[in-house]
Amino acid sequence: MTDAPKDRIAFIGLGTMGEPMVRQLALAGFTPALFDLNSEAAARIATDIGATAGISANEAARGADIVITMLPSSKEVDTTVLGADGKSGVFSVLAKGAIVIDMSSSDPMRTRDLANVAAGAGITFVDAPVSGAVRRARDGTLSIMFGGDAAVLERVRPILAAMGKQIFHVGAAGAGHAMKALNNYVSAAGLVAAVEALHVGEKFGIDPQVMTQVLNASTGKNNTTEHKVAQFMLSGTYGSGFFLGLMAKDVGIAIGLADQLGVRAELGHVCAKQWKDAAAKSERTTDHTEMYRILKP
Ligand code: NAD
Repeated sequence: MTDAPKDRIAFIGLGTMGEPMVRQLALAGFTPALFDLNSEAAARIATDIGATAGISANEAARGADIVITMLPSSKEVDTTVLGADGKSGVFSVLAKGAIVIDMSSSDPMRTRDLANVAAGAGITFVDAPVSGAVRRARDGTLSIMFGGDAAVLERVRPILAAMGKQIFHVGAAGAGHAMKALNNYVSAAGLVAAVEALHVGEKFGIDPQVMTQVLNASTGKNNTTEHKVAQFMLSGTYGSGFFLGLMAKDVGIAIGLADQLGVRAELGHVCAKQWKDAAAKSERTTDHTEMYRILKP
């Protein structure tokens, strides 16, 4: 028995997350056409997995059944699918029936708009952002939050399953992005709480390693205390692979959503400001675990 022909996939955005996700797709038997503004990275990955790297997003997407974007934010997704500077984007080169899956952590309101524009052209635009960081991108065990029709999810499930272990259908287009931003708000607030507690404890004379052990054996434990404090903060390596500016963007999206929906989120506003201020003082590639250093009294 032969396998059914695999979908023709284009994958746009081959950074910290996109690269390991593409490698998982290749392991599952897909051969995506690739594009990244960083043409050296795209060429290197294409050679490794036996794929082609396009000179533009449109070239990579031409003829694709499924286009996946893994870009920094809605801004880059917009210009990629709609075009910019008088040039048309990926939507203009796709055939009717094609599906675009935005796996970036984007703005849900923008995603809703893009889904409507796409529908007008006979294209389906859905969102499937991820959680689990580079470690789980590398072993194909990301959590995936899908926003879109259930039938579309079933259509693309084999592709998502190559990159993720748990796939959640959270609602219509945009719901995945809303869920992702809200998840990262909770994660970012937990990180700041842990960092502030560590700094207070240290001033009082408690060893931060001991504090981390106690937190992790107690009710204060969270993802930061378990997977970031000893590994990336106290070790001084700051190498989680998730940039601080991206976290600041996500918290901003979550709190912007709260404001737009008229939901009071006082802690969220404080948290969003802390991350925004820290991002303003950082480089593009500053790791988000550097909040430990930045918030040090
Ligand atoms: P990254 O900055 O490492 O990678 C982004 C890639 O997109 C880069 O290779 C860049 O060259 C490319 N790019 C930027 N603009 C482009 C354009 N217009 N056309 C083509 N390529 C373009 O970021 P990342 O960490 O891979 O994150 C990607 C998305 O995933 C973000 O939305 C982020 O918030 C989210 N995310 C990141 C993590 C993580 O741990 N790093 C985890 C979950 C979700």
